[in-house]
Amino acid sequence: MNEGKNNPRVPGVVLRQSEADRVVAGHPWVFERGIQRVEGELADGAVVAVKDGRQRFLGVGFFNGRSRIRLRMISHRNVAVDRAFFEERFREALALRTRWLPDARSFRLVNAESDFLSGLIVDKYEDVLVIQISSLGMEQRKDDILAALEAVLEPRAIVERNDIPSRRFEGLTETCGVVRGELAGEQVAFELNGLTFEADPLTGQKTGFYLDQQVNHRLVAEMVAHYPQGSVLDCFSSTGGFALHAARAGAGSVHCLDQSAEVLATAGRLAERNGLGDRLRYETVNVFDWLKARSAAPEGETAPELFDVVILDPPSFTRTRSALPDALRGYKEIHLRALRLLKPGGLLATFCCSHHVDARTFQDVILSAAFDVRRVLRRVATFTQSPDHPILPSVPETEYLKGFAFEVVR
Ligand code: SAH
Repeated sequence: MNEGKNNPRVPGVVLRQSEADRVVAGHPWVFERGIQRVEGELADGAVVAVKDGRQRFLGVGFFNGRSRIRLRMISHRNVAVDRAFFEERFREALALRTRWLPDARSFRLVNAESDFLSGLIVDKYEDVLVIQISSLGMEQRKDDILAALEAVLEPRAIVERNDIPSRRFEGLTETCGVVRGELAGEQVAFELNGLTFEADPLTGQKTGFYLDQQVNHRLVAEMVAHYPQGSVLDCFSSTGGFALHAARAGAGSVHCLDQSAEVLATAGRLAERNGLGDRLRYETVNVFDWLKARSAAPEGETAPELFDVVILDPPSFTRTRSALPDALRGYKEIHLRALRLLKPGGLLATFCCSHHVDARTFQDVILSAAFDVRRVLRRVATFTQSPDHPILPSVPETEYLKGFAFEVVR
């Protein structure tokens, strides 16, 4: 592509060669140190031409001199970033979901970097959309984004969930509300794998639900079905994603733990709504404390209740690489305790959503916990994020969720 080349009127950025290679490989972020030279006056939020040191055109991106991420690549072609551009990108994103999640009507439609739209997330709960904007370039084009979403999906309402602290790194304030259509402060009901769930787009966790687990909800439930009438412990339940799937798959009882009474109340309502109310129990607790109390059976006292299946789906224990050692201690602790609560032959389904802990490290932590409690594990499945959260290996930050299922051999 040579568009923009030698055009002195197009403001542009010239990259250092190592950075140019990263961009060619598909990485959308350029930090200050990656920029060799700026040509012309660059306004924050503007679309600028990006070139390598030999003046070869690499594409266009959003510039923001106030952000550590100076440049976010938007296209490898010289395109106008307008309503038509967003419409095309949204149609492509929709086609991807239709291919890989053919039965789903609720999913993440746009997952920022992994859909080549750095700074934009769009979740779809049936006919309600929730957007989250974390870059100035996207914020300045919000009207085009909303118009394009209306054209492609004809939603009943669009909510903006821009109450994320990271917006300040781009010079943006936090805001939240219904921006198109109407939503009477209601929970939005949606179907997932044939079960009814509810999202609370205005105040719920994330944009209302953990859509990235939707395939794993189904896969773990298929394994739970091998333990007919089995007992399941669902740690970090939230609104019951795993719990409801497990109950439908034939679990006799599912014990749900979460520190938020609100999400467990929703889980309870959903259990009733799905005709599974008699199987679920709920406890509002800190999982660390609960596991510690349950798994430490002092000499002479009755052994703790053991489960056929334990599910661990904690929040990320670290957002930074520097906090990794603490995070690993946290992961080890819950595994030590959870493994003590499993019957021989039982199943542990465990997840880690921290980008900084890779699958190998995560498994090492689990094995070290298993060694300490003298248990031997057989790995029977590996899990990743659902395909509506695409992974681009050339953009390592797009991969974060990993999980395993282990059978306790002894
Ligand atoms: N399993 C859920 C998603 C879990 S998200 C699903 O499939 O939909 C993580 C959950 O952990 C949140 O609901 C949060 O409230 C809860 N949580 C975070 N720290 C906790 C702790 N120490 N003890 C109990 N719950 C915790």
